[in-house]
Amino acid sequence: PGNKDDGAVSARVRVAVRLRPRNAEELVADADFADCVELQPELKRLKLRKNNWDSDTYQFDEVLTECASQKRVYEVVAKPVVESVLEGYNGTVMAYGQTGTGKTFTLGRLGEEDTAARGIMVRSMEDIFADISPDTDSVSVSYMQLYMETIQDLLDPGNDNIAIVEDPKTGDVSVPGAIVAEIRDQQSFVELLRLGEAHRFAANTKLNTESSRSHAILMVHVRRTVKGRPYRDLPLPTENGNASLLHKSFQAPLVRKSKLVVVDLAGSERIDKSGSEGHTLEEAKSINLSLSALGKCINALAENSPHVPTRDSKLTRLLRDSFGGTARTSLIVTIGPSPRHRGETASTIMFGQRAM
Ligand code: ADP
Ligand code: MG
Repeated sequence: PGNKDDGAVSARVRVAVRLRPRNAEELVADADFADCVELQPELKRLKLRKNNWDSDTYQFDEVLTECASQKRVYEVVAKPVVESVLEGYNGTVMAYGQTGTGKTFTLGRLGEEDTAARGIMVRSMEDIFADISPDTDSVSVSYMQLYMETIQDLLDPGNDNIAIVEDPKTGDVSVPGAIVAEIRDQQSFVELLRLGEAHRFAANTKLNTESSRSHAILMVHVRRTVKGRPYRDLPLPTENGNASLLHKSFQAPLVRKSKLVVVDLAGSERIDKSGSEGHTLEEAKSINLSLSALGKCINALAENSPHVPTRDSKLTRLLRDSFGGTARTSLIVTIGPSPRHRGETASTIMFGQRAM
């Protein structure tokens, strides 16, 4: 585990856990059984029941109960990352957990009927629009799905084998094959997300798979023009007085680029490989590959290791320039209360713990 008090190193991953309420089915079918977890939000602790009299206790950066509002979840999980993106650093927000525990609820809800329901993607963009100046800054968005180690453009259906390109000089990662849509207001962003969701549904129907079997990746590119330093190395003008004036007062405008990546990860549930074949087995292998590669990277970040092993999967290659250095990463692990899923819940909690 990383040294939490080492202020000099900001690479450490912030990890929050969020518990969703019981759903209608769990309320009825498990009525006689206690929840498998108990939260102590003031202490930022979670207790995972082992049996009727004993439990294990885990510490997180933030513990969000069934009662936590979407606004609060945004504020503790994503807002610090968004703020640092606005200052010119890369940042990542990821949701990890079993299918049905609230990853998409947390990240992706549009909240058009009920603004309180808006998720992290929409709230992030609102904060970005509130901070930038339309004259000098721009925001553009790509929205992709990563399925079986293939990247598909959710803004351009049919464009479904997009390459990841890494600039050898700067280390910047990009996906030049995907549409990068410049957006000017919140309404267009929400429409774009809705369109992307519809394309995702159609693509997955065609592939005969569930959206929980792929990662959804939103990339927000922020480009700001900021006042630069005075041009000290300008050659001294010889004859022209104006040039001399220019020399004293001119500030080179600097373009500052940063990127926010929001990842709705594929369901983390273990798929029983013995019973699956073909398609399902290949999907399971591919999800295991990328989630375990991701786990290795965030463990390395947590341990302040100089080497973050991003080469093992497309997911981690895509996140390469969003990991470590000045970049910020926030992970929210989502769990359900049902004792039936205690095993999956325990493994989700352990994934979160290893990131700290
Ligand atoms: P996932 O994306 O992890 O598969 P979803 O976000 O689709 O899970 O959530 C599954 C179901 O649980 C949805 O019906 C969703 O509305 C509900 N749900 C998830 N989290 C919460 C929450 N915190 N409060 C209320 N309902 C929730
Ligand atoms: Mg989902």
